[in-house]
Amino acid sequence: MTSSSTNVRRALVTGGAGFLGSHLCDALLGEGYNVVAVDNLLTGRLSNLAHLRNDSRFEFREIDINHAFDCGPVDYVFHFACPASPVDYTIHGVETLQVGSLGTFHALDVARKYGAKYLVSSTSECYGDPLEHPQKETYWGHVNPIGPRSVYDEAKRFTEAATMAYHRYYKVDTRIVRIFNTYGPRMQLNDGRVVPNFMKQALRGEPLTVYGDGGQTRSFCFVSDEIDGFLRLSKSDEHLPVNIGNPSEFTILECAKRVIGVTGSKSTIKYEPLPPDDPKQRRPDITKARTLLGWEPKINLETGLKLSLDYFREAVAQDSPARA
Ligand code: UDP
Repeated sequence: MTSSSTNVRRALVTGGAGFLGSHLCDALLGEGYNVVAVDNLLTGRLSNLAHLRNDSRFEFREIDINHAFDCGPVDYVFHFACPASPVDYTIHGVETLQVGSLGTFHALDVARKYGAKYLVSSTSECYGDPLEHPQKETYWGHVNPIGPRSVYDEAKRFTEAATMAYHRYYKVDTRIVRIFNTYGPRMQLNDGRVVPNFMKQALRGEPLTVYGDGGQTRSFCFVSDEIDGFLRLSKSDEHLPVNIGNPSEFTILECAKRVIGVTGSKSTIKYEPLPPDDPKQRRPDITKARTLLGWEPKINLETGLKLSLDYFREAVAQDSPARA
């Protein structure tokens, strides 16, 4: 079924002005969809969509999905609205919980109303500070429900629960992707995440701020690999969560050294306190994505950082040092 008589499928992307949402809009247009992106611009930016301004198959609407909304018939709902960096979701804690709960219900209601397929962005934060390593989708996690990260972790865990409920009770055709650390062009320079922070610091010749002893690990996926995983999952019939992330695991100190190497910077490393509840390790087990979707990442950290360099150079040039 398509949403119009022209046989062109129409996709809705919530959070369409965000880092992943905007790349997803590009990919869906590439797949032949007409796309309507909605965003309240709390952390999303119109500049991420500026290149689509004159594309007649693309439409942007500034909408707060914490209120019921309706952009007309759609064939697919991609629910990606949510502050995603630890700095952003700490500043916007209540809004994060609201979009995970109210916003998720409203996105699900759109899918239910139009009989649309649905894919929602979830997160490796569902695993918390994991005691199982690497993390399989079957692991229930080790999450502090009241700590500073809980506004995000529990929002996303609720999002997953609501999504499964709409699938079980209302037969909505749902999918859940658990996203691990992703980086690339269009990340906000000042969102506080490790790759933009290190890139900005290295390009300015400032010390890279490694929190704790830098021995904590993350597994970094380049954005084009991540989006490819989303598209493959969108075409599958898997309703249970699927990890999409790069299983190559790095300590944060190693990540800092890679950024210094790729940028050719003379920056040194400065150690700062570890934020509370900062997970000690993160690495996806992607057996499920490999077998079910034939997906695995192609771009290693060094290549991905090189592919991101022009974007970050430009972002640094446009950013006033006073905001750093
Ligand atoms: N981190 C760091 N220096 C920074 C920013 C982050 O050492 O300037 C660390 C942070 O403590 C965490 C890891 O890098 O261990 C990844 O942090 P990020 O905020 O990117 O995302 P998270 O995976 O924690 O959600």
